[in-house]
Amino acid sequence: MEGRIKQKQMRDSLGRFLCPKCGKTYKYQSGLSQHINHECGMPPKFKCPFCAYVCKQKSSLKPHIAAKHHRLYVELGKD
Ligand SMILES: [Zn+2]
Ligand SMILES: [Zn+2]
Repeated sequence: MEGRIKQKQMRDSLGRFLCPKCGKTYKYQSGLSQHINHECGMPPKFKCPFCAYVCKQKSSLKPHIAAKHHRLYVELGKD
């Protein structure tokens, strides 16, 4: 006999927690909660001017540009 169902949670075939909005999966419930509360549905704010890369924190953009577009960055960055 099965106990009553505590929560209705979406899981994918691997048992990972599934975001009902965007379908992103997380290994832990806490990760999903964090995603739903802080990420899901929020447009990324910082976009790389050189490619399609987007991120939510400016601090993430700098290392991306430095790593991927170092030459462009140097050229455009100089005054
Ligand atoms: Zn989501
Ligand atoms: Zn880029």
